[in-house]
Amino acid sequence: MTITAQKFQADVLAWYDQHGRKHLPWQEQISAYSVWVSEIMLQQTQVSTVIPYYRRFMQRFATVQQLAAAPLDDVLHHWTGLGYYARARNLHRSAEIVVERYEGCFPGDLDALIDLPGIGRSTAGAIRSIAFQQPAAILDGNVKRVLARYAAIDGWPGRSAPLKKLWALAEDLAPESRTADFSQAMMDLGATLCTPDPDCQRCPVKPGCKAFAEDNPRAYPGKKPKKSLPIKHSCFLMIRNPQGAFLLQRNPPLGLWGGLWVFPQCASPELIDETCANLGVDATATEVLPVARHTFSHFHLDYRAVRIEAQLEQPHGVRDGQDHRWYDPDNPEKLGMPAPVVALFDRQ
Ligand code: SF4
Repeated sequence: MTITAQKFQADVLAWYDQHGRKHLPWQEQISAYSVWVSEIMLQQTQVSTVIPYYRRFMQRFATVQQLAAAPLDDVLHHWTGLGYYARARNLHRSAEIVVERYEGCFPGDLDALIDLPGIGRSTAGAIRSIAFQQPAAILDGNVKRVLARYAAIDGWPGRSAPLKKLWALAEDLAPESRTADFSQAMMDLGATLCTPDPDCQRCPVKPGCKAFAEDNPRAYPGKKPKKSLPIKHSCFLMIRNPQGAFLLQRNPPLGLWGGLWVFPQCASPELIDETCANLGVDATATEVLPVARHTFSHFHLDYRAVRIEAQLEQPHGVRDGQDHRWYDPDNPEKLGMPAPVVALFDRQ
Protein backbone atom coordinates (compact mmCIF):
# COMPACT_ATOMS: atom_id res chain seq x y z
CA MET A 1 0.00 0.00 0.00
CA THR A 2 1.36 3.46 -0.85
CA ILE A 3 1.16 5.74 2.13
CA THR A 4 1.63 9.51 1.84
CA ALA A 5 4.06 11.40 4.07
CA GLN A 6 1.07 13.12 5.72
CA LYS A 7 -0.55 9.78 6.57
CA PHE A 8 2.78 8.43 7.89
CA GLN A 9 3.22 11.53 10.09
CA ALA A 10 -0.37 11.37 11.35
CA ASP A 11 -0.09 7.68 12.25
CA VAL A 12 3.26 8.11 13.99
CA LEU A 13 2.04 11.15 15.94
CA ALA A 14 -1.21 9.46 16.99
CA TRP A 15 0.81 6.51 18.27
CA TYR A 16 3.21 8.86 20.06
CA ASP A 17 0.36 10.68 21.80
CA GLN A 18 -0.76 7.39 23.29
CA HIS A 19 2.45 5.42 23.74
CA GLY A 20 5.46 7.74 23.41
CA ARG A 21 7.94 8.32 26.18
CA LYS A 22 7.34 11.73 27.70
CA HIS A 23 9.15 11.57 31.02
CA LEU A 24 12.77 11.13 30.08
CA PRO A 25 14.98 13.54 32.05
CA TRP A 26 15.87 15.56 28.95
CA GLN A 27 12.16 16.06 28.24
CA GLU A 28 11.59 17.82 31.55
CA GLN A 29 12.97 21.24 30.62
CA ILE A 30 13.63 21.28 26.93
CA SER A 31 16.27 23.63 25.60
CA ALA A 32 18.84 23.49 22.85
CA TYR A 33 21.41 22.74 25.55
CA SER A 34 19.47 19.83 27.07
CA VAL A 35 18.67 18.33 23.65
CA TRP A 36 22.30 18.66 22.59
CA VAL A 37 23.77 17.07 25.73
CA SER A 38 21.26 14.20 25.67
CA GLU A 39 21.70 13.54 21.95
CA ILE A 40 25.48 13.39 22.28
CA MET A 41 25.23 11.06 25.30
CA LEU A 42 22.74 8.82 23.50
CA GLN A 43 25.09 8.20 20.56
CA GLN A 44 26.11 4.53 20.79
CA THR A 45 24.67 4.37 24.32
CA GLN A 46 21.41 2.99 25.72
CA VAL A 47 18.84 5.31 27.33
CA SER A 48 19.00 3.43 30.65
CA THR A 49 22.79 3.92 30.81
CA VAL A 50 22.56 7.58 29.86
CA ILE A 51 19.92 8.66 32.41
CA PRO A 52 22.15 8.77 35.56
CA TYR A 53 25.04 10.31 33.60
CA TYR A 54 22.73 12.94 32.16
CA ARG A 55 21.34 13.86 35.57
CA ARG A 56 24.80 14.21 37.14
CA PHE A 57 26.11 16.13 34.16
CA MET A 58 23.23 18.63 34.19
CA GLN A 59 23.50 19.05 37.92
CA ARG A 60 27.14 20.04 37.57
CA PHE A 61 26.90 21.91 34.24
CA ALA A 62 23.39 23.33 34.27
CA THR A 63 24.05 25.80 31.43
CA VAL A 64 26.24 26.01 28.38
CA GLN A 65 28.11 28.84 30.13
CA GLN A 66 28.94 26.59 33.09
CA LEU A 67 30.10 23.87 30.75
CA ALA A 68 32.30 26.28 28.79
CA ALA A 69 33.87 27.65 31.98
CA ALA A 70 34.59 24.23 33.51
CA PRO A 71 38.01 22.58 33.32
CA LEU A 72 38.13 19.78 30.74
CA ASP A 73 39.19 17.37 33.51
CA ASP A 74 35.91 18.00 35.28
CA VAL A 75 33.91 17.36 32.09
CA LEU A 76 35.83 14.13 31.40
CA HIS A 77 35.32 13.12 35.02
CA HIS A 78 31.55 13.33 34.50
CA TRP A 79 31.93 11.26 31.34
CA THR A 80 34.02 8.53 32.96
CA GLY A 81 32.50 5.14 32.06
CA LEU A 82 30.40 6.37 29.12
CA GLY A 83 33.15 5.75 26.56
CA TYR A 84 33.79 7.50 23.25
CA TYR A 85 35.48 10.36 25.09
CA ALA A 86 35.86 12.50 21.97
CA ARG A 87 32.17 13.25 22.57
CA ALA A 88 32.97 14.93 25.88
CA ARG A 89 35.94 16.86 24.49
CA ASN A 90 33.79 18.08 21.61
CA LEU A 91 30.96 19.06 23.97
CA HIS A 92 33.38 21.18 25.95
CA ARG A 93 34.87 22.81 22.85
CA SER A 94 31.45 23.44 21.32
CA ALA A 95 30.23 25.01 24.57
CA GLU A 96 33.20 27.41 24.43
CA ILE A 97 32.32 28.30 20.83
CA VAL A 98 28.61 28.80 21.61
CA VAL A 99 29.57 31.17 24.43
CA GLU A 100 32.28 33.02 22.48
CA ARG A 101 30.61 33.22 19.08
CA TYR A 102 26.88 33.15 19.90
CA GLU A 103 26.81 34.72 23.38
CA GLY A 104 25.59 31.46 24.87
CA CYS A 105 22.59 31.01 22.52
CA PHE A 106 22.67 28.03 20.19
CA PRO A 107 22.19 28.93 16.52
CA GLY A 108 18.97 27.57 15.00
CA ASP A 109 20.47 27.22 11.54
CA LEU A 110 21.38 23.66 10.51
CA ASP A 111 24.70 24.60 8.90
CA ALA A 112 25.80 26.65 11.89
CA LEU A 113 24.92 23.76 14.21
CA ILE A 114 26.78 21.22 12.08
CA ASP A 115 29.79 23.54 12.16
CA LEU A 116 30.15 22.93 15.91
CA PRO A 117 32.57 20.15 16.88
CA GLY A 118 30.82 16.82 17.40
CA ILE A 119 27.45 17.89 15.99
CA GLY A 120 26.44 15.87 12.93
CA ARG A 121 23.44 16.21 10.71
CA SER A 122 21.14 14.12 12.92
CA THR A 123 22.05 15.88 16.17
CA ALA A 124 21.61 19.23 14.43
CA GLY A 125 18.20 18.02 13.19
CA ALA A 126 17.23 16.98 16.71
CA ILE A 127 18.23 20.36 18.19
CA ARG A 128 16.39 22.23 15.45
CA SER A 129 13.22 20.11 15.49
CA ILE A 130 12.95 19.51 19.24
CA ALA A 131 14.36 22.68 20.81
CA PHE A 132 13.48 25.21 18.10
CA GLN A 133 10.36 23.47 16.75
CA GLN A 134 11.62 23.93 13.20
CA PRO A 135 11.27 21.34 10.41
CA ALA A 136 14.32 19.08 10.28
CA ALA A 137 14.99 15.39 9.78
CA ILE A 138 16.81 13.17 12.23
CA LEU A 139 18.51 9.87 11.50
CA ASP A 140 19.99 8.27 14.59
CA GLY A 141 20.52 4.50 14.86
CA ASN A 142 16.93 3.81 15.88
CA VAL A 143 15.44 5.89 13.08
CA LYS A 144 17.75 4.28 10.53
CA ARG A 145 16.37 0.88 11.54
CA VAL A 146 12.73 2.03 11.23
CA LEU A 147 13.22 3.67 7.85
CA ALA A 148 15.39 0.93 6.40
CA ARG A 149 12.63 -1.53 7.21
CA TYR A 150 9.77 0.73 6.24
CA ALA A 151 11.16 1.26 2.74
CA ALA A 152 13.15 -2.01 2.53
CA ILE A 153 16.40 -0.14 1.96
CA ASP A 154 19.17 -2.67 1.49
CA GLY A 155 22.73 -2.31 2.65
CA TRP A 156 24.63 -1.31 5.76
CA PRO A 157 23.81 2.35 6.64
CA GLY A 158 27.53 2.94 7.24
CA ARG A 159 27.90 2.95 3.45
CA SER A 160 27.08 6.07 1.52
CA ALA A 161 24.47 4.68 -0.93
CA PRO A 162 22.01 3.34 1.68
CA LEU A 163 22.70 6.31 3.94
CA LYS A 164 21.80 8.70 1.14
CA LYS A 165 18.50 6.89 0.57
CA LEU A 166 17.72 6.93 4.28
CA TRP A 167 18.38 10.66 4.54
CA ALA A 168 16.22 11.33 1.48
CA LEU A 169 13.36 9.38 3.06
CA ALA A 170 13.85 11.04 6.46
CA GLU A 171 13.69 14.46 4.79
CA ASP A 172 10.55 13.49 2.84
CA LEU A 173 8.78 12.32 5.98
CA ALA A 174 9.76 15.21 8.29
CA PRO A 175 6.67 17.33 9.03
CA GLU A 176 6.28 21.12 9.05
CA SER A 177 4.48 21.15 12.40
CA ARG A 178 4.75 19.14 15.63
CA THR A 179 8.39 18.73 14.70
CA ALA A 180 9.52 17.98 18.25
CA ASP A 181 6.89 15.30 18.80
CA PHE A 182 7.60 13.70 15.44
CA SER A 183 11.36 13.48 16.05
CA GLN A 184 10.76 12.06 19.50
CA ALA A 185 8.15 9.67 18.11
CA MET A 186 10.51 8.28 15.48
CA MET A 187 13.20 7.67 18.09
CA ASP A 188 10.64 6.02 20.36
CA LEU A 189 9.32 3.83 17.56
CA GLY A 190 12.81 2.50 16.97
CA ALA A 191 13.57 2.13 20.66
CA THR A 192 10.35 0.43 21.72
CA LEU A 193 8.65 -1.31 18.75
CA CYS A 194 10.92 -1.48 15.74
CA THR A 195 13.71 -2.95 17.82
CA PRO A 196 16.13 -5.61 16.56
CA ASP A 197 13.33 -8.02 17.49
CA PRO A 198 10.37 -5.94 16.20
CA ASP A 199 6.82 -5.94 17.48
CA CYS A 200 5.15 -5.29 14.12
CA GLN A 201 1.63 -6.07 15.26
CA ARG A 202 1.56 -2.94 17.43
CA CYS A 203 3.36 -0.74 14.92
CA PRO A 204 1.46 2.32 13.61
CA VAL A 205 3.20 2.23 10.20
CA LYS A 206 2.72 -1.47 9.56
CA PRO A 207 0.27 -0.96 6.63
CA GLY A 208 2.96 0.76 4.54
CA CYS A 209 5.99 -1.15 5.78
CA LYS A 210 7.75 -3.05 2.99
CA ALA A 211 9.84 -5.21 5.32
CA PHE A 212 6.66 -6.26 7.11
CA ALA A 213 5.00 -7.02 3.75
CA GLU A 214 8.03 -9.14 2.84
CA ASP A 215 7.71 -10.82 6.24
CA ASN A 216 11.40 -10.15 6.76
CA PRO A 217 12.00 -7.09 8.99
CA ARG A 218 15.18 -8.54 10.49
CA ALA A 219 16.88 -8.40 7.09
CA TYR A 220 17.02 -4.59 7.45
CA PRO A 221 19.12 -2.61 7.90
CA GLY A 222 22.02 -4.51 6.35
CA LYS A 223 24.69 -5.65 8.80
CA LYS A 224 28.10 -4.11 9.08
CA PRO A 225 30.56 -6.36 7.24
CA LYS A 226 32.33 -8.46 9.85
CA LYS A 227 36.06 -8.29 10.21
CA SER A 228 38.02 -9.66 13.11
CA LEU A 229 39.57 -7.02 15.34
CA PRO A 230 43.32 -6.97 15.87
CA ILE A 231 44.63 -7.46 19.41
CA LYS A 232 47.07 -5.07 21.07
CA HIS A 233 48.86 -5.67 24.36
CA SER A 234 49.80 -3.39 27.20
CA CYS A 235 50.90 -3.40 30.85
CA PHE A 236 49.31 -0.87 33.19
CA LEU A 237 51.76 0.12 35.90
CA MET A 238 49.89 0.72 39.15
CA ILE A 239 52.73 2.56 40.86
CA ARG A 240 51.83 3.39 44.44
CA ASN A 241 53.87 5.68 46.66
CA PRO A 242 54.28 5.17 50.41
CA GLN A 243 51.44 7.63 51.03
CA GLY A 244 49.04 5.33 49.13
CA ALA A 245 48.70 7.51 46.03
CA PHE A 246 48.98 6.11 42.49
CA LEU A 247 50.88 7.66 39.66
CA LEU A 248 48.64 8.68 36.76
CA GLN A 249 49.56 10.39 33.54
CA ARG A 250 47.36 12.28 31.16
CA ASN A 251 47.05 11.10 27.56
CA PRO A 252 47.56 13.69 24.81
CA PRO A 253 44.32 15.52 23.97
CA LEU A 254 43.70 13.77 20.66
CA GLY A 255 43.63 10.06 20.02
CA LEU A 256 42.79 7.09 22.16
CA TRP A 257 41.47 8.03 25.61
CA GLY A 258 42.49 11.57 24.70
CA GLY A 259 42.81 13.86 27.73
CA LEU A 260 42.05 11.02 30.16
CA TRP A 261 44.21 10.01 33.12
CA VAL A 262 45.68 6.53 32.91
CA PHE A 263 48.35 4.44 34.59
CA PRO A 264 51.76 4.63 32.93
CA GLN A 265 52.00 1.84 30.38
CA CYS A 266 54.57 -0.31 28.68
CA ALA A 267 54.22 -2.90 25.96
CA SER A 268 55.40 -5.95 27.95
CA PRO A 269 56.43 -6.98 31.50
CA GLU A 270 60.11 -6.97 30.44
CA LEU A 271 59.92 -3.20 30.07
CA ILE A 272 58.55 -2.46 33.55
CA ASP A 273 61.89 -1.55 35.18
CA GLU A 274 62.96 0.60 32.27
CA THR A 275 59.60 2.43 32.22
CA CYS A 276 59.76 3.11 35.96
CA ALA A 277 63.34 4.36 35.59
CA ASN A 278 62.28 6.69 32.78
CA LEU A 279 59.60 8.06 35.07
CA GLY A 280 62.21 8.65 37.77
CA VAL A 281 60.47 6.22 40.10
CA ASP A 282 62.50 3.79 42.12
CA ALA A 283 60.07 0.89 42.33
CA THR A 284 59.53 -2.85 42.75
CA ALA A 285 56.80 -4.86 41.06
CA THR A 286 54.89 -6.92 43.63
CA GLU A 287 52.03 -8.54 41.72
CA VAL A 288 50.97 -9.10 38.14
CA LEU A 289 47.20 -9.33 37.74
CA PRO A 290 45.56 -11.61 35.16
CA VAL A 291 45.10 -10.40 31.61
CA ALA A 292 41.87 -8.49 31.00
CA ARG A 293 40.38 -7.28 27.73
CA HIS A 294 38.93 -3.92 26.77
CA THR A 295 37.42 -3.69 23.31
CA PHE A 296 37.50 -0.52 21.27
CA SER A 297 35.60 -0.14 18.01
CA HIS A 298 38.71 -1.01 16.00
CA PHE A 299 40.80 -3.30 18.22
CA HIS A 300 40.94 -5.36 21.41
CA LEU A 301 43.31 -4.22 24.12
CA ASP A 302 44.57 -7.10 26.27
CA TYR A 303 46.15 -5.55 29.32
CA ARG A 304 47.87 -6.76 32.43
CA ALA A 305 47.90 -4.57 35.53
CA VAL A 306 51.09 -4.72 37.60
CA ARG A 307 51.10 -3.57 41.20
CA ILE A 308 54.26 -1.66 41.95
CA GLU A 309 55.48 -0.12 45.20
CA ALA A 310 57.54 3.04 44.80
CA GLN A 311 60.46 2.83 47.24
CA LEU A 312 61.18 6.42 48.06
CA GLU A 313 59.34 8.48 50.64
CA GLN A 314 59.46 11.37 48.16
CA PRO A 315 59.67 9.85 44.71
CA HIS A 316 61.86 12.03 42.58
CA GLY A 317 61.37 12.81 38.93
CA VAL A 318 57.59 12.93 39.03
CA ARG A 319 55.76 15.89 40.48
CA ASP A 320 52.08 16.70 40.32
CA GLY A 321 51.54 18.81 37.25
CA GLN A 322 49.74 19.18 33.96
CA ASP A 323 50.45 15.65 32.82
CA HIS A 324 51.33 13.62 35.93
CA ARG A 325 49.49 13.21 39.19
CA TRP A 326 49.87 11.20 42.37
CA TYR A 327 46.21 10.26 42.73
CA ASP A 328 44.83 9.23 46.09
CA PRO A 329 41.78 6.97 45.56
CA ASP A 330 40.68 7.67 49.14
CA ASN A 331 40.54 11.41 48.41
CA PRO A 332 39.81 11.37 44.69
CA GLU A 333 40.23 14.42 42.54
CA LYS A 334 37.77 14.99 39.69
CA LEU A 335 39.66 13.48 36.78
CA GLY A 336 38.44 11.69 33.67
CA MET A 337 39.56 8.07 33.51
CA PRO A 338 38.75 5.24 31.12
CA ALA A 339 36.70 2.29 32.34
CA PRO A 340 39.63 -0.15 32.88
CA VAL A 341 41.41 2.34 35.16
CA VAL A 342 38.23 2.95 37.15
CA ALA A 343 37.69 -0.83 37.41
CA LEU A 344 41.23 -1.34 38.71
CA PHE A 345 40.75 1.32 41.37
CA ASP A 346 37.42 -0.28 42.33
CA ARG A 347 39.23 -3.57 42.90
CA GLN A 348 41.77 -1.99 45.25
S1 SF4 B 1 6.01 -2.85 10.78
FE1 SF4 B 1 7.61 -3.86 11.92
S2 SF4 B 1 9.41 -3.65 10.68
FE2 SF4 B 1 7.93 -2.23 9.88
S3 SF4 B 1 8.44 -0.31 10.90
FE3 SF4 B 1 6.87 -1.33 12.11
S4 SF4 B 1 7.96 -2.52 13.68
FE4 SF4 B 1 9.42 -1.93 12.08
